Amino acid sequence: MTQSDVIIIGAGPGGYVAAIRAAQLGFTVTIIDKRMTAGGTCLNVGCIPSKAMLASSLKYQELSQDLNEHGIEVANVSVDVEKILNRKNKIVDDLTKGISFLFKKNNITFVQGEAKLVDAQTVQVGETIYNSSRAILLAFGSIPAVPGFITVDEEKVLTSTGALNLSKAPKSLAVMGGGYIGLELGSVWARLGTKVTIIEALPTIVANMDKDMSKALVKSLEKQGLEFKLNHKILEVLTQKESVLLKLEGELKELEVEKLLVCVGRKPATKGLGLEELGISVEANGLISVSENYETSLRGVYAIGDCTKGPMLAHKASEEGVVWAERLHGQKSHMNKSVIPAVIYTHPEVASVGKTEQELQKEGVAYKIGTFPFTADSRSRTVGQTEGFVKILAHSTSDQLLGVHIIHEQAGSLISEAAVVMEFGGVCHAHPTFSEALKEAALNTFSKCVHL
Ligand code: FAD
Repeated sequence: MTQSDVIIIGAGPGGYVAAIRAAQLGFTVTIIDKRMTAGGTCLNVGCIPSKAMLASSLKYQELSQDLNEHGIEVANVSVDVEKILNRKNKIVDDLTKGISFLFKKNNITFVQGEAKLVDAQTVQVGETIYNSSRAILLAFGSIPAVPGFITVDEEKVLTSTGALNLSKAPKSLAVMGGGYIGLELGSVWARLGTKVTIIEALPTIVANMDKDMSKALVKSLEKQGLEFKLNHKILEVLTQKESVLLKLEGELKELEVEKLLVCVGRKPATKGLGLEELGISVEANGLISVSENYETSLRGVYAIGDCTKGPMLAHKASEEGVVWAERLHGQKSHMNKSVIPAVIYTHPEVASVGKTEQELQKEGVAYKIGTFPFTADSRSRTVGQTEGFVKILAHSTSDQLLGVHIIHEQAGSLISEAAVVMEFGGVCHAHPTFSEALKEAALNTFSKCVHL
C-alpha cells in the first residue's frame, strides 16, 4: 500500500496544477492518469495541438493569400501536412515532458493507470492500493459527446482527436456542430484546402456567444470559404466506401463528404465509475455536484474541472486546482466564477468575459452598450488587421462592467485586460496598441468616445 496526504485522479490542467500547488504547500501528492503522459485532454488532444495546427495553417493562409497589400508577392507556396503534424506532436511531447519534470521537481508521484475510487481514503490502480490521509481529488475531465446514432471510426467519422491527426487534407469535411472546437478545427482544414461545411441545428453558431459576435464570425469565416448550414440537423450518417453520406433535416436534405467531424460538445468522464454507489452525488448530465470548497457529497473527496459545473475550459480547471489546494491548506483563496474569459482561436479570434447582451436581457438587467471598430484603431491599421470590433456592456446607472466581447485577430490577448478591469478597475493604455479599442468602447458606453 502506498500512502500520501493527497491523491489526485486525472492529470489534466485541473489535476496537475492542483498537484503542483498542493506539493508547494507541503502536502505529499500521488497523481494518477490512464494516459501515458500528463497534461490531460488539453495538452494531449485539445488546446495545445489544436492551437499548434491553427498557427501552422494560418501561416500558410497568410503566405498564400494575405500578404499582397503589404507589397509582398510569394510564389509557389506549398504545404506539407505531415510536417505540420510532426511539429504539433513535438510541441505536445515537449510540454508533457515539462509536466513530468515539474512532478519530479515537486516530489509528486505520477502513476500511470486507470484509477478506481474505493472509498473516501482509498484508490485502486490494478492490484495496487493507494491511501490518502487528507483528501482525494477527482479531476476526471471530459470526453467528446457523440450522438447514439453515430459510430466514430476516427477514419471517416471523426472526433476532435481524429481531426488533429489527418495525414492529408480531405477534399471535403462536414462539421457537425458550430461550437468553438468545430470552428477551430474546421478553420484548420479549410485553410489547408478542404471544402468545409459547418452543420448547426440552431440558428446561430456557439450558442452561448453574444449574437453580434456570432453573426460577425459567420460572415468572416464565410469569406474564408467555410460554408454554414444553420438550422440543419443531421438525422442519419451513412458511411460509404470512399465517403460519408449525411441525411439532413433542413433546406438541404443530403450531403456527401469525404469525412465527418462530430463536434457536438463534451461530456464529463464520470460514467461507469460507481461514484453514486459510494455516496457521491452525480447530476443527470454526469457532472459531479460539489460545494463551494469543491467537496463532493462524500466527505474528504473533492472534484474540479470539466467533470464539475461551469465552462469546460482549461484555465477554469487550473484555477480551481489552485484554489482547492490552497483551501485544503487553510487559506482563504477565492475564484470569481463570473470573470472567466473564453477565446475562440479562429481568424479573427473571438474572446469574451462576463455576460452577453442576450443574458442581460433575459435577466432584466438595465445595460448600455459601447462599441468600437478596429478600422478606427491606429495599431490595427498599421498591421492591416482591421476586421472586428469591441462590444462593452455596462450597467446603465452604476457603469459597472458586465460583459466584454471582442472579435479581432488579437482578441484572445486583449480579453485579459477586460478581465482585469472587471476584477480590479481601469488602466492607462499605450499608443498605438490594440487595447486602445477597448478603452474607446468603454468610453462609448457613456458617449465620450474620442476616435469615433
Ligand atoms: P482533462 O484535461 O480532460 O483531464 C482529465 C484526465 O483524467 C485525462 O487525462 C484522463 O485520462 C484522466 N482520467 C479520467 N478518468 C480517469 C481514471 N478513472 N483513472 C485515471 N485517469 C483518469 N480549453 C481552453 O481553455 N482553451 C482552449 O483553447 C481549448 N481548446 C480545446 C480544443 C480541443 C480540440 C478540445 C478537445 C478541448 C479544448 N479545450 C480548451 C478544453 C480543455 O481541454 C478542457 O477544458 C481541459 O482539458 C479540462 O481539464 P481537466 O483537468 O478538467 O480534464
